[in-house]
Amino acid sequence: MSPRSISILGVTGSIGQSTLDVIEELRGQGAELDIEAVTAGGNLELLAATCRRLRPKFAAVAEPGQLGAAREALAGLGVEVGAGPSALEEAGARPAGWVMSAIVGAAGLQPTMAAVRRGATVALANKECLVCAGPLFIEAAKRHGARLLPVDSEHNAIFQVLTHPDRVEKLTLTASGGPFRTSSREAMAAATPDQACAHPRWSMGRKISVDSATLMNKGLELIEASYLFGFPSKKIEILVHPESVVHSFVHYLDGSVLGQLGSPDMRIPIGYALTWPDRAHLSTARLDLAKVGALTFEAPDTGKFPALLLARAALDTGAAATTALSAANEVAVEAFLGGRIGFLDICRIVEESMSVLEGSGAASIAKSPTSFDEVAVVDQAARGAARRIAGSLAAA
Ligand code: NDP
Repeated sequence: MSPRSISILGVTGSIGQSTLDVIEELRGQGAELDIEAVTAGGNLELLAATCRRLRPKFAAVAEPGQLGAAREALAGLGVEVGAGPSALEEAGARPAGWVMSAIVGAAGLQPTMAAVRRGATVALANKECLVCAGPLFIEAAKRHGARLLPVDSEHNAIFQVLTHPDRVEKLTLTASGGPFRTSSREAMAAATPDQACAHPRWSMGRKISVDSATLMNKGLELIEASYLFGFPSKKIEILVHPESVVHSFVHYLDGSVLGQLGSPDMRIPIGYALTWPDRAHLSTARLDLAKVGALTFEAPDTGKFPALLLARAALDTGAAATTALSAANEVAVEAFLGGRIGFLDICRIVEESMSVLEGSGAASIAKSPTSFDEVAVVDQAARGAARRIAGSLAAA
């Protein structure tokens, strides 16, 4: 593998730390991987421990007010420190050839765009970039010659087997079904944040874990796949596959179906994105199909998990609707994790926020944003609507 300079946006998260593992393993095999920049939200302790291991040139934290504390935490490590939105963007703009985009939520958009604008190779874990600003994001990547390598396991799987994009009949995104696949609506109504975050197969950050429990994660992935691979909603199906062994399928016009299999370990797609078009030798868990025994598949229950219908409707409506869906969902998930609303309120808030925004002037979800400023207007309007609805549910 040739020498590479790397930046990791969201290094203190689940994906960020798995990326760190992969980098250390490859370095152990002699790969020359230099770290240009890293970013964190507010976890200074983990940021400092990570900087001790990675020795990046630059580290940025999200809050401007944390600059002093971040400098103190990283003192003596020879790392330049920045804070606030412009520092996060600087981390994306610094000259790394390969950038891991793993900040959670729409907060990842501008730092990732800074990498896209200088034509970097972007390993895209942050699906909200695409859901929030899909067509503009894809168009910017094309214009600036940035290569997008999907890290989300399903999209990485499709990327690995999408040998003939013009000969595809349909894509199948597999879904584990989350922790409430077999739960009753009553049990879901009473679910706590910790129960919702106890994913049966994957260990992930809390926001995506809740998204997996509502199946909104699969809805966001449907949108992500549509924008990333250029297929309409009707050509992308979702199938529940509780074993999480097949990470997605591509169905071709000749009747062939290609899938990618592997243990549920994000270091596999991260390693693939980091070494593509090569493949690395990684000490990830090996798939033992005899031990797995049976692979099962079932249609999702959209009555129990309406997030799938909401996401599909948003994708069919257009780019502003997917922006609004993602923003309202972020607010609702935060309210649930904060103990202010119930689990079933998440989708209710998203649905009602979408209704509020239908035909609401500049923030109407019927329009397609033509600039990132217009995306921000829709995003803010959806957050405002979702906060109001969450507030009234919390007060009830
Ligand atoms: P985590 O919550 O574990 O980590 C999120 C990262 O973003 C942390 O570094 C966090 O910093 C940082 N962060 C949080 N808020 C902000 C903010 N406002 N500004 C700047 N940085 C911020 O998430 P995951 O690693 O699980 O997920 C990251 C992304 O990857 C998500 O978009 C998710 O959908 C996607 N993804 C994750 C998968 C997984 O297995 N985890 C699988 C596929 C996709 P800090 O902790 O310091 O506050």
